[in-house]
This record gives sequence, structure tokens and C-alpha cells, in this order.
Amino acid sequence: MTARIILLGPPGAGKGTQAARLSEALGVPAISTGAIFRANKAQGTELGKLAAQYMDRGEYVPDEVVDAMVEARLGEADAAEGFLLDGYPRTPHQVEALDAMLARADHELDKVLLITAPQDEIVSRLLGRAQVEGRADDTEDVIRHRLEVYRRETAQLEQIYRERGLLAEVDGVGDVDAVAARLSASLRD
Ligand code: AMP
Repeated sequence: MTARIILLGPPGAGKGTQAARLSEALGVPAISTGAIFRANKAQGTELGKLAAQYMDRGEYVPDEVVDAMVEARLGEADAAEGFLLDGYPRTPHQVEALDAMLARADHELDKVLLITAPQDEIVSRLLGRAQVEGRADDTEDVIRHRLEVYRRETAQLEQIYRERGLLAEVDGVGDVDAVAARLSASLRD
């Protein structure tokens, strides 16, 4: 079975953690655009320098930059039978770009998993993560801004995929195993 899956949800909903687990269970790579940007930043590449100008302020990297990076990544051999996209698409433009990429490869999306969590839970999780991981964009001001950008730019994607009949909503509150079990169940539906 192919598994071409998007994980959608605000920063702090648990997309990265769950993507890693689902990736093992399904045998397809978890592809996190944020992680690719952070790796590029750490290596000091041109892409990393460009992305950091946006990332560190909690702004979105321009669509064209992200789209090209994702198309290249999806073209790698390990993604031929499926993928879990964590953090992409994030704008209606990126939705269209992904549609076009998949069409060119004669592929289709199987599911969009929306992980939900209340705002105060999200802020406290992100502040906790800041202490553990030391991400430049996990300070309180930037966190609030990232949530605002999510509401403004990305929340509308929920409706786009709901209308396509692809969206499954999963409660992201609870321990990691419980949420993982809910996600697996919604993939079987
Ligand atoms: P994340 O790890 O998914 O929270 O992403 C961290 C940061 O990387 C975001 O706040 C953005 O600055 C940038 N980023 C990641 N994915 C995208 C995307 N699909 N579109 C634009 N910017 C992105």
C-alpha cells in the first residue's frame, strides 16, 4: 500500500514526533521542511542562510524556495512508495504546487491528518521544547507569532483538504502513544 500523507496542525501539535513514529510503522520517510531548513542553517549553506532570515522571526520561507526543495526531496528514491510530509504544505500556493508535483509523478495523496491541540497547551509545549532543543524560533514572542502566521496562512488548508474528502482530524492531547494509536486508527478508516 502506498502512503502519501500530510501531517497538518499548528506548531507544537506534535507533528514531528508523530511523523517519526508513523514513518517507522509505514516504512516511508518523514519529510520535515523545517528540519531540512534547520540542517541547512547548521551547515551554513546558501539555502540555510536564506531560510534563517525568515525562520528565526517565525515567518514563512517564500513558497518558491520551499516548493523547489520539496520537489527535489520527493524525487529521491526512498520517497517513491510514499512519504509523510511534516510542515508542508503551509499555504494555498504550496497546496497547488504539491498537486502539480504529484500529478507530474502520476501520484495522488492518500490522507491529510490534522493534529489538533488547544492554544495554551501548544504554547506551553513549545516553551518546554525551547529549553530542551534551544531552537532560535522557540522564544515566547516568536512562538506567538508563529501561531498567528499558522492561523492566517495555514488554517485554511484544513478546509481545502476537508472538501477533497482527505482530512482526518485527530486529537493531539494525551501521551505520545495514545496520539499515535489515534493516528494509526484514522489511517485504517
Ligand atoms: P517547523 O519545524 O515545521 O515548525 O518549521 C520551522 C520554520 O521553517 C517555520 O517557522 C518556517 O519559517 C520554515 N518552514 C518550514 N516549512 C515551511 C513551509 N512549508 N513554508 C514556509 N516556511 C516553512
